[in-house]
Amino acid sequence: MTQTKILLWYRSDLRSHDHEPLHTAVEKIQATSGQIVPFYCFDSRQFKQTAFGFPKTGAFRVQFLLESLADLRRSLQALGSDLVVRQGLPEVVIPTLVKQLKLTAVYYHREVTSEETAIETALQNALKPLGVAFKSFWGHTLFHPDDLPFELRQLPELFTHFRKQVEKQSTVNPARRSPIQLPSLPDVEAGVLPPLTDLGLEPPTYDDRAVLVFKGGETVGLARLNHYLWQHDCIKTYKETRNGMLGADYSSKFSPWLSLGCLSPRYIYEQVQQYEQERVRNDSTYWLIFELLWRDYFRFICAKHGDRLFRRSGLQGIDIVWKEDWQRFDHWREGTTGFPLVDANMRELSATGFMSNRGRQNVASFLTKNLGIDWRMGAEWFESLLLDYDVCSNWGNWNYTAGVGNDARGFRFFNILKQSRDYDPQGAYVKHWLPMLSNVPATKVHEPWKLLPVEQERFGIKIGVDYPNPLVDLFKSAAANEKIYNAAIETQ
Ligand SMILES: Cc1cc2nc3c(=O)[nH]c(=O)nc-3n(C[C@H](O)[C@H](O)[C@H](O)COP(=O)(O)OP(=O)(O)OC[C@H]3O[C@@H](n4cnc5c(N)ncnc54)[C@H](O)[C@@H]3O)c2cc1C
Repeated sequence: MTQTKILLWYRSDLRSHDHEPLHTAVEKIQATSGQIVPFYCFDSRQFKQTAFGFPKTGAFRVQFLLESLADLRRSLQALGSDLVVRQGLPEVVIPTLVKQLKLTAVYYHREVTSEETAIETALQNALKPLGVAFKSFWGHTLFHPDDLPFELRQLPELFTHFRKQVEKQSTVNPARRSPIQLPSLPDVEAGVLPPLTDLGLEPPTYDDRAVLVFKGGETVGLARLNHYLWQHDCIKTYKETRNGMLGADYSSKFSPWLSLGCLSPRYIYEQVQQYEQERVRNDSTYWLIFELLWRDYFRFICAKHGDRLFRRSGLQGIDIVWKEDWQRFDHWREGTTGFPLVDANMRELSATGFMSNRGRQNVASFLTKNLGIDWRMGAEWFESLLLDYDVCSNWGNWNYTAGVGNDARGFRFFNILKQSRDYDPQGAYVKHWLPMLSNVPATKVHEPWKLLPVEQERFGIKIGVDYPNPLVDLFKSAAANEKIYNAAIETQ
């Protein structure tokens, strides 16, 4: 019998638990005492620039990726195997390895967006003449597409419709356990993980104001899950705390590990179910799963609509006249708009690679609905900086916030001042990131431009010098952009 030799192509699925390609490979090789070659390729395209000229993968995420790969390598070594690492293009490097090691199959988790699927197609074409099996698996969501109550092309456009149908009619498959043993690697050099500088980046500096020290890898991801559920019962009050912006535990912070696949959503689901059986089941425990459904929804929307998500006119094809105003964009990304909530969040993002969901909604609304700037510039800036960047969640949420996605409610903008009062009533968050405001009382801290000269002197701040004047009038700018939006709708 021919020996089965499988290359396991790791991408954004850097884990050993609940990993169907790995699980299937283990089952498959047993009959023939075959081999498995776990493999990761640093694809040079990931380290180029975005269309607007930002590093496609910034230093925070690369650091997290390197930590995740080191952790995966340790786990695989503990199971008796290793991780083979190369730099280059997967469609070139993998066929070379296939020939060198006489491999018979390549297993991988498939993606849904065009850059990633183009690589899959190129690899498939390159493998065809070699006669090896090329087998894809679906593994990034709670629900498997085969278990959805509708065909992907009939996926409901609105989240609520999607959610209600899957909640009623679909079930989440059980998470697979990690293998207990793997065959050793064939005779091949494992390769070293490149230092950050080899990928053209400087190591990021750690800012001790960060919500959490995010360290990549399945081990730390699972520890975070354990912390949030079992050790500190944070999930019990998640619904009440999830709109926070300060501290480690207002929300789960699972996103960076989910994005690189260090944590499986199905495993989180099982853990939440177990928590509900053993400790408490309430609105908060439900709400964490509800949020994971958003994540599923955006991935399925991408699978359904393809590149429409990345177009200026978005999923709905609304041709809004956006500005490409770099001067104002720089104020936004550097956190110098004069609106403390926006500035604090943008500075947090630059300093740490993370921002709360509440922050993301506000800064995205401000960029698009107050500054009228092309939402894709914001999406690319997030892509560059976010530790938890996920192509579907990022571009899906930006579509949504910019008003070109599946949001049936027309022009909606966040009233930054109301949001500041509601979610940061004491000004603790803005003071955390904008120390020049530290002596300004809570009642005035969100509108520093209103401080009288005598107050500025009293609170030790000079507006226009220590902290900028507002870039726009919040309501006039929103009204002007609403007109532009309405004009686009009329011509649709
Ligand atoms: C403009 C914008 C861009 C975003 N870009 C990303 C991104 O690139 N990657 C990313 O993972 N999330 C993105 N989000 C969604 C959300 O802000 C983050 O998932 C969340 O803040 C991560 O923190 P957490 O893990 O503590 O979330 P929790 O509140 O603890 O939620 C649990 C999990 O549910 C999922 N989730 C929660 N909210 C959303 C949402 N709105 N959309 C999709 N999934 C969600 C995430 O996987 C998250 O880890 C974006 C939101 C906005 C408004």
